[in-house]
Amino acid sequence: MSNVKFLILYIILMVPTYFWRFGLIGSAMDGGDDFENLNNTAMVLLLISYVGMAVVSYFRGKGSGKKYLFAFPVVGGVFDLILVFIPFVPTVMNIITIVMGMSDDKESAGDTSINKTDREEIECPACAEVILKKAKKCKHCGHEVNA
Ligand SMILES: [Zn+2]
Repeated sequence: MSNVKFLILYIILMVPTYFWRFGLIGSAMDGGDDFENLNNTAMVLLLISYVGMAVVSYFRGKGSGKKYLFAFPVVGGVFDLILVFIPFVPTVMNIITIVMGMSDDKESAGDTSINKTDREEIECPACAEVILKKAKKCKHCGHEVNA
């Protein structure tokens, strides 16, 4: 999963959690009889949203060497379902998930730099064409480079 696809999916799932919460707060303010019903509905919707966010994070984390990434929306979701009126923890968790999910891991960054040193180029001493440093033989003139 690319980081852009991850970001889009995560935001699509995350934004409604704020609406569910505001719906809950609104009905609590009204103190209406339907609060209990709405409360349950919003709880289920919140749960579904967080499960979706955990799944998206899991697949993104799996692809980028961060298998633990799904833990952040899970923690955010648990806090959200317990302390639904205090969106601080889930918001922080969402930010961490997005930031970590967007960046590619250090391992693959390291791999790229290894590949770069692997592709290091020098000039052939005989014909001055650019060849790979680790080449034993020049691809242009066939000159034997220091083996
Ligand atoms: Zn050469």
